[in-house]
Amino acid sequence: MPKRVLIVGGVAAGASAATKARREDEEAEICLFERGPYVSFANCGLPYYISGEINHMEDLLVVTPKRLEDRFNLQVFVNHAVRRVDPKKRQIYVEDLERGGIKTHSYDSLILAPGAYPIAPPFPGRDAPNFFMLRTIPDAEDLKKFIDEREPKRALIVGGGFIGLEALEAFTARGIGVTLVEMLPHVLPNMDPETTVHVEEEMSRMGAKIILGNGVKSFEKDSSGLIKKTILENGRRIACDLVLLSIGVRPDVKLAKESGVEMGATGAIKVNDRMETSVRGIFAAGDAVESLNLVTGKPGWFALAGPANQQGRVAGANAVGKDLRFRGTLGTFIVRIGKIVAAKTGLSEREAQTEGYDFITVLNHPMHHATYYPGAKTLHMKLVAEKGSGRVLGAQVVGEEGVDKRIDVLATAIFFGAKIGDLGDLNLAYAPPFGAARDPVNQAGLVGSHLISGEVEAYHPVRAKDQDGEDVVFLDVRTPKEWEKGTIPNALKIPVDELRKSLPEVKAKIRGRCVVPYCMEGYRSYIAYRMLKQKSVECVKNYAGGYLSYLSHRAVDIEE
Ligand code: FAD
Repeated sequence: MPKRVLIVGGVAAGASAATKARREDEEAEICLFERGPYVSFANCGLPYYISGEINHMEDLLVVTPKRLEDRFNLQVFVNHAVRRVDPKKRQIYVEDLERGGIKTHSYDSLILAPGAYPIAPPFPGRDAPNFFMLRTIPDAEDLKKFIDEREPKRALIVGGGFIGLEALEAFTARGIGVTLVEMLPHVLPNMDPETTVHVEEEMSRMGAKIILGNGVKSFEKDSSGLIKKTILENGRRIACDLVLLSIGVRPDVKLAKESGVEMGATGAIKVNDRMETSVRGIFAAGDAVESLNLVTGKPGWFALAGPANQQGRVAGANAVGKDLRFRGTLGTFIVRIGKIVAAKTGLSEREAQTEGYDFITVLNHPMHHATYYPGAKTLHMKLVAEKGSGRVLGAQVVGEEGVDKRIDVLATAIFFGAKIGDLGDLNLAYAPPFGAARDPVNQAGLVGSHLISGEVEAYHPVRAKDQDGEDVVFLDVRTPKEWEKGTIPNALKIPVDELRKSLPEVKAKIRGRCVVPYCMEGYRSYIAYRMLKQKSVECVKNYAGGYLSYLSHRAVDIEE
């Protein structure tokens, strides 16, 4: 008898599962149920459809039901919602949303891939026609139609995660002024504030207003029933012609829970590395499941397209009797806002702290390619590594160019368990238009290995408040031309090339205090650090990431 495989949800995880099952088993009967009108569409492309970068909605359809039927011999049921699972009888109950009526289908293997749903608290006023969320193609079509027809001037975006930021970019491209409200003290909550501050600066440059540390209380409608004002928790009222709510998603676990499937600690469906749930014959994949965090070794929840596709593939193969494994994820993501790209893999500093790691952080601001080749742009990088082992725990990269390449190198290194020193030894591609003979990733590795070995002690500006009691003297080792553009207040100023001969003067001025050399981004101050250390200056700390880190942290302090 051919195996019967039923799949709930027809997008990233569901469609991957279905096509992999077919590639493994030509005889199986495979049915895909999707409650929406489309299968296998690119949610990730929706913001670019709103902006007009992607012109035709059809371009978002990665594969059509006809292609799934012709090429993969799948039975595709769109506008069909799976309402109930009976694991004892191995049956599902499916409602036809167009014609009505419920039909029963039997399975040998069932794959749950229902995804996640947007968090939408019952704010008063959110039933208005100019209130939107962005998850599906119909959501995007409604929003685009509203913009095309009504030509709104002011949009209010609630939530500064990657969907909120991509929407901000799209609205700005359409000539709409944006105010973005975020409850937390910075956007992209999974990253650290001194990296996201560069994103916020770009948002402001694009003309957006950013309100941090504040949430939405309600919406006020006018006589036509449209939201005209958003009321914030602190009572502030913001005029707007359109509202987009993007405050995060939750795993859609209703069907799984009602089927007796066990949930994990994160609230998502618990699965093993074969994507099997606790109920025999039922697999699950995608945004609805939790997966192993490859850094912590603990279950985590990551709603991202890459893992959803990988998990779907594993579930599809195993549903027809194969034995594939999903290894886990690092939560690697990347987002573009105007000219700036922000990306992260593994843990942020805050996450490393929460997990109880003893760690060092590397801050550096290298150019994305050789400085002498025209067009070099600054990258802002932050790496976290475990103190004892040197294992890289996470990385964040923000900048205009070359972010994608660095984050993927770092994600690959972390995936294979790299130590921070290994990054210094990586042999990466180099020619002046693409990188540097010592690539930014190599540089970060060298800085980190010095910190781990104790060869260099860093002054970490994030912890400047904790270091208030510490009596330090900042030593600016840049050139007089650079000083003209700004220095840390009260810093001693001696260019690194004159430091050797000025040592007696430095020693006299520091009078037993700790000296913190800094330059633009950390290299010249490292040379000064080594010189001072070998000339018997007892307490020296290198300013991590130099003056550029100082500016980032000052910007965070000003925001706070
Ligand atoms: P989904 O894609 O949500 O698909 C689940 C499907 O199951 C849905 O279509 C739903 O209708 C259907 N379903 C649910 N219950 C039932 C039922 N009972 N019966 C029938 N059908 C059902 N990720 C990235 O990695 N990079 C990005 O740049 C990125 N950008 C994004 C931009 C936007 C605007 C959005 C919304 C998401 C973005 N994501 C991005 C996230 C990514 O799209 C998801 O992680 C991925 O789609 C998850 O795939 P999935 O198959 O688990 O769930």
